[in-house]
Amino acid sequence: MNFCPNCQAELQTQMINDLPRRVCPRCDFIYWNNPLPVAGAAVIDENGWILLARRAVEPRLGWWNLPAGFMEWGESAEEAARREVREETGLEVELTGFLSSFGAGYDDLPWRSITYVFFYARPVGGTLAGGDDADLAQFYPPDQLPPNIAFTSNQAALARWHADRAAELPAAQGDV
Ligand SMILES: [Zn+2]
Repeated sequence: MNFCPNCQAELQTQMINDLPRRVCPRCDFIYWNNPLPVAGAAVIDENGWILLARRAVEPRLGWWNLPAGFMEWGESAEEAARREVREETGLEVELTGFLSSFGAGYDDLPWRSITYVFFYARPVGGTLAGGDDADLAQFYPPDQLPPNIAFTSNQAALARWHADRAAELPAAQGDV
């Protein structure tokens, strides 16, 4: 962010609470740069396979990710996760547990960051079909995931899934 949204003065960078913030020298506006929340789900079917969506949009067009997206105004993370799964894969899901959250910045957009919140879920209805930001959605067995997984947050979520499977967590095995 370069200019103050209140008074249009040019912003300056100051360290506040150990992080660089964009601060207005004229009206004291501070751009806190709090992360944007993204919610999504690791949907596990009765075979223990995981649902991935292929990205139809940049960045990482053609790469795979867990169905996820930016939360809308007034939504809970749970509501957003179910909605994103529905929009991107056609499936209705029931959340079965909490997977993890991850903070992520952008190398090319240093004034923007995201907090991912991932749940476990299981399919309860709908028809599998890519939609919205995804052009294909399908389940993969744990040992045959596609190599091109988009974003370190999704790679970390899948690593956590593998660890939870090894620990025999029921939600990670589709056993709930
Ligand atoms: Zn200002």
